[in-house]
Amino acid sequence: MKILKYCPNCGKESLNWDGEKKWSCPECGFSLYNNVAGAVAVVIRHEDEIYLTRRNRDPKKGKLDLAGGFVDPKESAEETCKRELFEELQIDIDISNLKYLTSLPNVYQYKEIDYNTIDLFYEYHVPEKFEVSLELSEISEAVWIPLKDLNLEDLAFDSQKKFFEGYLKNI
Ligand SMILES: [Zn+2]
Repeated sequence: MKILKYCPNCGKESLNWDGEKKWSCPECGFSLYNNVAGAVAVVIRHEDEIYLTRRNRDPKKGKLDLAGGFVDPKESAEETCKRELFEELQIDIDISNLKYLTSLPNVYQYKEIDYNTIDLFYEYHVPEKFEVSLELSEISEAVWIPLKDLNLEDLAFDSQKKFFEGYLKNI
């Protein structure tokens, strides 16, 4: 993780990192918390296939990812699912059909800063397979994969690998 040395309040080279979630400055009393951030991940499922996106940016560029993302301020996790699935895949989901499954911690490294997240996993069944219109999307590719062919090493994030270890046992 990037070492930040200068206090953004008083400017002195006195900033301390507690090794977990807090920067503080003994010179002026400033403190800044890097708290756990909420994020959602949605298993889009049709029968025994799921729809995964391929990341087109770091971290983990090129790896497979569940649709989803960070919860915005003042947003419910279900609203995040609806917003992210529309942004990434242009599908307009019915929130009442989202099924909450479980949560797992993850670390998301972005520009040398580690963000601890709590990833909330949901499942969303679609009545038929669809394909995303990529020119409208922020992703580079999305693929339907039969669950029996899913290789956990192709997944971008540890929380998703751990999630699928459990999920695949129940198919
Ligand atoms: Zn200071």
